[in-house]
Amino acid sequence: MTSNELRQKDADYIAGTYARNPIVISEGQGVKLTDGEGRAIIDFSSGIGVLSVGHSHPAWLSAVTEQAGKLAHISNLYHTQPMAELAQKLCERTGMSRVFFGNSGAEANEGAIKTARKYMSDNYPGVRDTILCLQNSFHGRTITTLSATGQPDYHKHFGPWPAGFAFTPANDIPALTENCTKNVGAIMIECIQGEGGVVPLEGSFISKIAKICAREDVLLIVDEIQTGVGRTGKFLCCEHYDLKPDIVTLAKGLGGGLPIGAILFGEKTMGTLGKGEHGSTFGGNPICCAGANAVLDIIDGPFMAQVESNGAYLRAQLEALPGVTKVTGGGLMLGASLEDGLKNTDVVAACLKKGLVVLTAKEKLRFLPPLTVTQAEIDAGLEILKEAISSLR
Ligand SMILES: *Cc1c(COP(=O)(O)O)cnc(C)c1O
Repeated sequence: MTSNELRQKDADYIAGTYARNPIVISEGQGVKLTDGEGRAIIDFSSGIGVLSVGHSHPAWLSAVTEQAGKLAHISNLYHTQPMAELAQKLCERTGMSRVFFGNSGAEANEGAIKTARKYMSDNYPGVRDTILCLQNSFHGRTITTLSATGQPDYHKHFGPWPAGFAFTPANDIPALTENCTKNVGAIMIECIQGEGGVVPLEGSFISKIAKICAREDVLLIVDEIQTGVGRTGKFLCCEHYDLKPDIVTLAKGLGGGLPIGAILFGEKTMGTLGKGEHGSTFGGNPICCAGANAVLDIIDGPFMAQVESNGAYLRAQLEALPGVTKVTGGGLMLGASLEDGLKNTDVVAACLKKGLVVLTAKEKLRFLPPLTVTQAEIDAGLEILKEAISSLR
């Protein structure tokens, strides 16, 4: 099938919810993609932060294929080894106490919201029923996670909305104190707002949240779906802030390309959901868990220091790039603001023509390369970005 035929088939049969880039991707290997015409493309997107160890990492591939030949699925009515091992690794890596496995980020956040609601109704019935979220946040595409998402653009069309969410601006401590009313029983944050434009929370703001949560027995939910699994140079981004959340959600990079989400519970919340109170048919799928186990083994030890140094390298190179005015984020999750007159979507299209995939977030360019990216690959990608930007200035 030619790329044109494939694009036509897509238009004829797939619901039109995406404005796809006009290229076909047929293969991926490490940081390199191959398009429908056999052309090589450098991937600085990791499939939106998913391919944490690159495309088809050999250790990941053999773990996944071996598991597929052994046991692909059996449901949560039975014990399986990949799931139990992954839960242990996640708890040991994060200091959290228990894990629930689902299939996506939104589903993990739904479970986190259910847990917070049960905790509030168990401990503060008739008083606490509200989760305080941040303006400009992103927590998913289901009705309830959209309700928790602090961006009015996502709140068109789909009401009525579930109640029980309030919003406060990021990095504004007086507003936080004011909005943390007696009804609030949980605060939900991303340490770096990803879809919101790669906006990091300030240390002082996070400390204030941690203080309120500890003092008032308010649950702290940290959405690490984009920032987690090594993306910012620590296993969890909240480790940079010495934060001990009550609930952490993971997805994107966890499965190394396979769909898996996880809710990590701390001591306060580990027993909140009882038998029969939450579930998922596919959750903890053995193949996905085998892939995630491989990811966790690969990004262990000195690997994380390499993410930090490669992240610092990418950041410095971006800051020096003509046309880039400011770089935000951490580790290998970076956002670049562009000078007036340069549109991020034009830069993305020009990069794609020249063989580089980059993402956008709000008006910025967003970079989420595989965590396995080398400095030579960063240089090769940035050379293309430089040419793309200079062709538009
Ligand atoms: C991507 C993302 C989600 C949603 O994850 P899905 O797997 O698309 O449901 C939620 N929160 C954050 C911070 C994300 O980046």
